Parts: sequence; structure tokens; C-alpha cells
Amino acid sequence: MALHLFNSLSRRIEEFVPIEPNRLGPDGRPYVGLYCCGPTVYDYGHIGNFRTFVFADLVRRHLDFRGYSVRAVMNITDVEDKIIRRVRESGRPLHEFTRTYEDAFLGDLKILNCLTGEMPRATEHIGDIIALIQKLEQRGLAYKTADGSMWFSIDKYQGCGCRYGVLKTIDFSQMRAGERVAADEYEKEAAADFALWKARVPDDGEVAWDSPWGPGRPGWHIECSAMSMALLGPSFDLHLGGEDLAFPHHEDEIAQSEGAAVQTEGHPFVKYWLHGSHLLVEGKKMSKTLGNFFTLRDLTSKGFGGREVRQLLLSAHYRETFNFTLDGLAGARSALTRIDECIDKLTQLAGGESASADKGLVDAFTEAMDNDLNVARAWGIVFDWVRETNRQLASKTLTPVQAASALAAWKQIDTVLGLGPRPESEVPAALLALAQERVAAKKARDFARADQIREQVRAAGWMIEDTAAGPKLKPLSP
Ligand code: AMP
Ligand code: ZN
Repeated sequence: MALHLFNSLSRRIEEFVPIEPNRLGPDGRPYVGLYCCGPTVYDYGHIGNFRTFVFADLVRRHLDFRGYSVRAVMNITDVEDKIIRRVRESGRPLHEFTRTYEDAFLGDLKILNCLTGEMPRATEHIGDIIALIQKLEQRGLAYKTADGSMWFSIDKYQGCGCRYGVLKTIDFSQMRAGERVAADEYEKEAAADFALWKARVPDDGEVAWDSPWGPGRPGWHIECSAMSMALLGPSFDLHLGGEDLAFPHHEDEIAQSEGAAVQTEGHPFVKYWLHGSHLLVEGKKMSKTLGNFFTLRDLTSKGFGGREVRQLLLSAHYRETFNFTLDGLAGARSALTRIDECIDKLTQLAGGESASADKGLVDAFTEAMDNDLNVARAWGIVFDWVRETNRQLASKTLTPVQAASALAAWKQIDTVLGLGPRPESEVPAALLALAQERVAAKKARDFARADQIREQVRAAGWMIEDTAAGPKLKPLSP
């Protein structure tokens, strides 16, 4: 089966065929261009945001696994309404303010083992943004208001035979001609002319650039149109984001990019639009506004690792909402322990043997993921395999070569899941120090202290296992 993905444009699952099927990437494999709307760097991201970014990472990893050469771009939104407000409140210069959160974001991506690609910043593409607005102006789709702001005319766009409302059905009877919306984020379905360039106002402080229309700053939507096309060309394969971005952000991106008519005849701006569903907390979207959020820092300070958060975020299909709970995270910990223990035993049995990957296992996993990234099925395959492998290990019916073949298959599968090996560093440093202190206590025959440390470590959710190579810490299964 070929790879199939749900395309928000057609609202159905379609076979994935690159927009330029004969184009090859630098490594000689078929080329795919992928853009994911990146973070707005005004605060630490919450794990709802990271559900979307881990989903984008999964798409990219699966495309790579299926033989594509992926050029992955994720922008950094480093100027928009919320940022300007926070810059004003903080009294810090724009770049200094945004860099703090950009660095935190990159650190979080690393903790979650997300691959990074090109990450253009909006403030470094002001020239491309202005050029794109000028194209829209030349085509009669952009107009200026007295204050020096530029707007996108939905009426004129529709008049050119283009359709506004391809990702969301718009009720045009609610729309008053010429009505404008200045905010970067606005009400759903409230179609109105939106800002391409916002004239400088006193509240903007130092945040302004010169333009043919006077000093100002770009609207959020035009930033993504300009950056994606600057790096990936006027037409590319995949555009990703969370479901809340479909309207108005992505709808506006399509209108601006196709309105500029820079694509070759018959080619869309983007062939496949993929949207990830929200992470919920007690049935409500995890969001800064509702205050029901956890940052990655919140969870690591509770002793959870990035790998556990990643496993949890990847446990549900990307088009299904799911509730975040700490119990769910503890479940991810025990799921990983089951996999890790099986891999440990297979590694011991395989010794130095090498073998080609167990094709049955890899094929079953591939088929599940090719079906619109059916992770529920894929995890089912992984855990059935773990159970069956444990049974064979217990009954000693597995040979070293078979163990090596299973390990080779897992290695391939994990290029997609991205869990990586159990990192020793995920054990909190304080606990590692306690484990060492316990070794010293036992040497000194201070068994009371050694037991006390064991209990202390256990209370923190870890178990000390004494091995020939020294103490090993394992997370306690809940
Ligand atoms: P922002 O930094 O606010 O621009 O958001 C970054 C990404 O996170 C966007 O793709 C949003 O759609 C996504 N997002 C925001 N909240 C959630 C959530 N609760 N669950 C999943 N994705 C989310
Ligand atoms: Zn965007």
C-alpha cells in the first residue's frame, strides 16, 4: 500500500503523490517540501503546542522512512500582536525578548527528540513579505487605508474567480463587504478583509520596519505565506499545523499565496493540508487563555522525561482529540519500560550477532502508518510483538540471530517513532548521586543507610537494580 494522508482540502484520505513526482532531493531520493507553522515566541510552549510539533515530526520521519528526501521548514513567529503586547509589558527589546522563548522552544524540541530543519524567523523575511504584498497590490487584491495599513480584499479575490473558504465553509451572508479585522487572531468564520501590513501605532514602540506604505509591521498570516514560498517555492507538498490554524490562518495563507498568482498554471500553493487535533484537559483545549496547561518544564520537574511525554503525545491518532492526564503520562512510562526491558533482553541474547530486519514486523508497522499514520494500530503491533517476544524469551525458543533480526526491525521502526534508546540522563542527577552513595554505604557495611536510600529513591518513583556494572535506576511501573 502507498502512503495515504487525510487532506483537509478535500476532507478525505488521499494517496500521497509529490507535487513534482520526478524531482529528486540532494540525496537522490524523491523530493518533498514540508512546512509546519511554528511557535509564536512570546512565552514557553505548553505540551498542547508540542502535540502539534511532535505530530509534524512524525509526518516528517515517516516520509523519510518511506524513502522521501524531506525539506522541512518550520517558521518562528517572532513578531505579531501577542509578542508586541508582551514586549511592551516587559520593556525589553523585541529580539532579546523573543530569543529567550525561541531558545526555550529549541531546547524543548530536543528533549522531545524532534528533528529540526530550517527555521526562518519572520523578522528576517520582511523584504519577502513586502514583495508579496506588493504583488497583491499589483493584482488589485490589496488596498491601503488612510493610516498606512494594507488589507487583503476578499471581495476582489473572489472576483478573480478564486474561492475564499476552501478549508472551512464560510457563511458569506454574515459577511459585510469591506469589513476589516485588524487582529492577527480573530473569530472563526468571521470572514473579513484582514491586515497584510499594520501601520505603526504608539503601542508598537520600537517594533516597526519601513515599507512603501510607511512604517509598520506585517500581519501574522502574510508571514507564513512569504516564508514558506521563499524557502519551498510557490507550490509545495505539505503544510501542517494545529486544527485551530485552519481558519483563518491557513485560509488566509492560501488566499494571499494563490492571490499573488506566482504558481505555475494548475499548481496549488499547497497540495496536502494536514491538521492535528487538540490536546485537551478535562474536555477543554489546553491553552494559555484557559490556564489549564502544562509546559514541558512542569512535567520534567515532576520527574517525567521527554521520551515519556513524546510517547504519550504519539499514543493517539493525530486527528483525534485526547485528554492529557498525569495518569496517562505514568501509562507512557510503563509502556516504555515494557519496550525497554524487551530490547535489553533481546540485546543480551543477540550478543554480537547481526541479521537483516524482521520483514513481517516492519511491513505490518509500515502498513499501519501508511494508513493516515494510524498510530493506534502501529502501537498495537509493537506491543503484540513485545508480548510475543517476551513469551519466546521466557520459553527460550528464540535464537541469537532471531533476536538480532528483531532488534534490526525495532531500529527501523524507531526511526519513525523517535523514542531512541533509554537515556541514562533521564534519571534525575540527584537520584544517580544517591545510588552512588548507596554503593559507598554498602561497602562501609552501613546497611541501614543503604536501605534508607533505596526507599528514598523508590519514593521518587525509581528502583535501584544492582548489576555487575554497578547500580542501575529503573522507573517504577505504576
Ligand atoms: P502558537 O505558538 O500559539 O502559534 O501555537 C503553535 C501550534 O500549537 C499551532 O499549530 C497550534 O495550532 C498548536 N496548538 C495550540 N494549542 C494546542 C492544543 N491544545 N493541542 C494541540 N495543538 C495546539
Ligand atoms: Zn503559519
